[in-house]
Amino acid sequence: MRDFGLLAARSPRDVVKRRAIAVVALVSAVLVSATIDAFAQRCQPRRKLSPIRLTTLGPCEFNPETFKFAGEPDQQALCLMRSATSRRNLGPRLKSIPPTLATRVGQSTGLPERETLAALLVELGLVWDYAPFLWQPISRARDNDPTAPQARYLVIHDTSSPNFGRRPFPANIDRHRSINNLNRYRCRDGWEPAHVIINRGGAMLLGHELGEPWRAMRFERATRFGTELKELFLHVELIQPRRSRPGRGRHNDALAPTPGFSEIQYDRLALVYMIASVRAGRWLIPAFHVAIDFGIRGGHDDPQNFDVGAFAGSIERLDNRLVQYRQAVATEAEVPPGGIVAQTEDKD
Ligand SMILES: [Zn+2]
Repeated sequence: MRDFGLLAARSPRDVVKRRAIAVVALVSAVLVSATIDAFAQRCQPRRKLSPIRLTTLGPCEFNPETFKFAGEPDQQALCLMRSATSRRNLGPRLKSIPPTLATRVGQSTGLPERETLAALLVELGLVWDYAPFLWQPISRARDNDPTAPQARYLVIHDTSSPNFGRRPFPANIDRHRSINNLNRYRCRDGWEPAHVIINRGGAMLLGHELGEPWRAMRFERATRFGTELKELFLHVELIQPRRSRPGRGRHNDALAPTPGFSEIQYDRLALVYMIASVRAGRWLIPAFHVAIDFGIRGGHDDPQNFDVGAFAGSIERLDNRLVQYRQAVATEAEVPPGGIVAQTEDKD
């Protein structure tokens, strides 16, 4: 494993201190997670999931031969990042996406360096879940078949829970402890709903390592594909409470808060997007669950009230931060060990 502490260190003393903190944090995390796991729920459906038979290949025209949706990557994003309407239809194809996304999706250029990203993960306290895997490729479709294409799509979901029914949302949903309790999504049987779950305060639960094939859509489970699509899609769930829309079934969850997500949720989503793209060797194409499962019986409407511009802004900020980080590390590398700068004698 690489020594991530060194990447962000400023002096040897810092290194020792950071390592000690990291070890204590790791031990605590293991103890806490062991305790939490003991109380976590079983998530595997008790009944066998019903088979899904597709009548079409979806509104974005998936091609089972190429494992791609129709069009160039930016065109795919325009189709795949469309939301549901309040009438339970799929909204129109987007006319444009921010340049930050349009110039990246599907491209292998402009990816951050793994070392810089790892250094940032150290600073964010996310090193253990993500940094050691940065040097490993992402899994491949056909349930990780070495000859199949690597994951291409990052599917964005919202949890649509908890559902407050006819009650109003609490005053501060971004800080509400129960809404943002990630243990709701922790499973002792390994059936977490997505690869990553992000709460409204920016905390993240790694449900499945990004290299682990995991399906979270009905489209992926369609009988015609077998396990072909397993791991073509990575899944991120963003916590979003819901309410019931009057006039529909009592337990419907059609109403989402506005804005749909907090700023730090977009920031963390951008981070996961970057991590996954670096591992894939090209920028993944973001997609909404609803745009892929639309038209399939039982498909869901998430994510609701997702702001594509805010997501692009987070990617841009993160990119700028990584550039600054790289420059700072390069500058520090020029300083001799111990931070003692050689003095030159003044000359008259
Ligand atoms: Zn979903």
